[in-house]
Amino acid sequence: MSYKPPLRDEIALRPGYHSPQFDVEVALNTNESPFLPPEQWTSELLSALSKVRYNRYPDRKATELRRCIAEYHEVEAEEVFCANGSNEVIEILLLAIGGPSRKALVFEPTYALHSHICRLTSTEVVSGHRDESFRIDPEQARKLNELHDPVVTFICSPNNPTGQLESVDVVTGILGQTEGLVLVDEAYGEFASPVSSALTLRSTKGADYDDSLSRLAVVRTFSKVWSMAAFRLGYLIGSPQLISACERAALPYHLSTPTQTAGIVAMRYRSEMEDRVKQMTQERDRLRAELERLKVQTWPSEANFILFRPGDRSGREVWQKLVDSSVLIRDCSDWPGLEGCLRVTVGTSEENDRFLDALEECL
Ligand SMILES: *Cc1c(COP(=O)(O)O)cnc(C)c1O
Repeated sequence: MSYKPPLRDEIALRPGYHSPQFDVEVALNTNESPFLPPEQWTSELLSALSKVRYNRYPDRKATELRRCIAEYHEVEAEEVFCANGSNEVIEILLLAIGGPSRKALVFEPTYALHSHICRLTSTEVVSGHRDESFRIDPEQARKLNELHDPVVTFICSPNNPTGQLESVDVVTGILGQTEGLVLVDEAYGEFASPVSSALTLRSTKGADYDDSLSRLAVVRTFSKVWSMAAFRLGYLIGSPQLISACERAALPYHLSTPTQTAGIVAMRYRSEMEDRVKQMTQERDRLRAELERLKVQTWPSEANFILFRPGDRSGREVWQKLVDSSVLIRDCSDWPGLEGCLRVTVGTSEENDRFLDALEECL
């Protein structure tokens, strides 16, 4: 008889995390940037890679990359931890501070990976629920924090898949309710106004954090507006103590030299990144206006995607019809709290037009 792996319950009892990867002409399902990184970035990177001593392990502390990221955010390098995508950052963090008999608080509907990573690390998930406009209810958060004493409270802002930003006041409010870590996932932070980032709370260089601010951590990624999803690079900004905790849990040399180099070079193309943000936010606003014209219910978005509900037709049916026209978006229609909803990533204007035409046809 062939070997049947003795899966842990957390793994066996749940389906894995899947976003279907089909071969389609217009892929608007995973919130990547529709643009390649700048050509100069590619040539600078290739030239840097030709000089790497591939026989040697990478810089374990990713010193130069952390210095560049720290400079960009006006924090210290000791306050930055990098890994292969922000999901891995979160996994490493939970390996360090989560685990059996510890809890994490999430507010649904939100990014499914947060609770998935909790389960992978045997961290118990406590779910709060967002209000009708998909915002966190501070009073409910207070009750849940009191009742469960989570080691980490996740705040996804702008929230995926709904698009809303949580105010800095909500973040400070929750910091006051818990003794645990408050982790703000700002994967889409560049699309929103910088003053709305939780990083503004801890931007003073080398500041002595008061107790509650040292429990704030912010996660960011190169997978979205930096146009580098293929590389897998993300980072966390937090107190030096938290960064050391992550370093203890990470495997040695977890971040390859090419990945570190790609991030270092990318940081020299910040203004190009900001140009892409401008283009994408303009397209986002146009896309939303067009959806409203089609009498489709939409929600405001501070990110590079839009959540919408296609009225009378079932979400699943619309999703399938779009796939038949070679347009792939995200089907959220059976997620709790998102009945009938679909999420479309903002693409190039041509891609968005293809999507809008296909949608109009099936409505
Ligand atoms: C896309 C996304 C990420 C990115 O994860 P990576 O591992 O960095 O690619 C993280 N958080 C949220 C909420 C996302 O939507």
